[in-house]
Amino acid sequence: MEQAEDTIFAIASGAGRAAIAVMRLSGPLCQVALATLSGGVVPPPRRAVLRRLRDAAGAVLDHAMVLWLPGPGTYSGEDSAELFLHGGRAVTDGVAMALVGLGLRPAEPGEFSRRAFLNGRMDLVEAEAVHDLIAAETEAQRRQALRQLDGELGRLYRAWSDRLRSMLAQQEALIDFPDEDLPPEVEAALEASLASLRSEIAEHLDDARRGEKLREGLVFAIAGLPNVGKSSLINALAGRDVAIVSATPGTTRDALETRVVFGGVPVTLVDTAGLRDTADAIEAEGVRRALQRAEDADLVIAVSDGTAPFPGVAASIRVTNKSDLGRAAASATIAVSALTGAGLDALRERLSEAARALTESAGPLPLTRARHRAALQEAKARLDAAAETTLPELRGEDLRLALRAIGRITGHVGVEDILDTLFGQFCIGK
Ligand code: GDP
Repeated sequence: MEQAEDTIFAIASGAGRAAIAVMRLSGPLCQVALATLSGGVVPPPRRAVLRRLRDAAGAVLDHAMVLWLPGPGTYSGEDSAELFLHGGRAVTDGVAMALVGLGLRPAEPGEFSRRAFLNGRMDLVEAEAVHDLIAAETEAQRRQALRQLDGELGRLYRAWSDRLRSMLAQQEALIDFPDEDLPPEVEAALEASLASLRSEIAEHLDDARRGEKLREGLVFAIAGLPNVGKSSLINALAGRDVAIVSATPGTTRDALETRVVFGGVPVTLVDTAGLRDTADAIEAEGVRRALQRAEDADLVIAVSDGTAPFPGVAASIRVTNKSDLGRAAASATIAVSALTGAGLDALRERLSEAARALTESAGPLPLTRARHRAALQEAKARLDAAAETTLPELRGEDLRLALRAIGRITGHVGVEDILDTLFGQFCIGK
């Protein structure tokens, strides 16, 4: 197992001054390091005790609560320890230097979770859930990450692997004993299992990317002719001045983005440049990009001010702004005033419903990552090939490749190449 000899440490709580900083240790030197720091006595396992921590010269570094957590029943699966230090820079630096002096080294990003994976404490899908849970900004994201952390997604993929393995065994039997009297049901059963697995994977893939969208956030584009009040509307929805509001048409030259939360889903609101024909080269580029953003967006909010027409883009919601001036377009979904705030709650509610509809999935946990999608698409392609071929050996090979593709998701086969990418995204201390 890689780096099993190294004992690592990192501040697991946030950076900066705080009441408490949690220093996390993992590896074979934990017990000795803890005893040396805290005056020669190892604290009882899994019991929080108060200790004076000292450096090699005997100078007191901190009064800290310490925890001795012998492996393997720990997060990383190794001997571990946690020090609850006073959260000042001089304290944490002093303890870090003392630990280095005892032969420990600072952890790399994600190294605790990487060790947890290598020691079989969690599969890759669960490790990704830890990352997502830390990154979760909204309740809906937290819920999805926690369900994944509970192993719901990993269990689904492992169940598919198990089924594939038994299909492979049946296929091997058909190859190895072609002339023996295998009951004809074997082949029929194999074909039936293949068909049902293909359709289950296809259904899982065909989820309008709900889980991925919830994890990554949605993009809503606001489109409309210049001066109808798009920037004002974004400011009103975001509750802060993010877009430049101006009475001169065409001032919002580039796409401006702001993050808001609608219905528990993070949404990037994109203010598109005023969509109009223009001779100004920079503004024309802004218009081109705006159209592209609107095309790629999960939802387009078209805005008019009651006098100007709606822009010529396919929009999901049509908003008439400046309702305080007593105008309202007949074809509008909703009338608001960015100036007075009239109608904004109703608009927010509509946008929240839309955000939920785009990300909520009834039933089982949806796909959450492009990495999983790619592997499942490969598995699906292999299974399709397996269903088409009549040559037993070729079918066996297709099933094997499908099994390997699914195994890569949870990390049960061929994972070396993805470990660095995956755990490198983690923060230090996780
Ligand atoms: P954009 O070009 O579409 O982004 O439009 P802006 O947000 O820059 O607004 C253009 C002008 O319309 C500014 O003078 C705003 O103050 C004004 N405006 C925006 N919303 C309203 C509104 O609801 N009522 C009124 N009366 N004026 C508004």
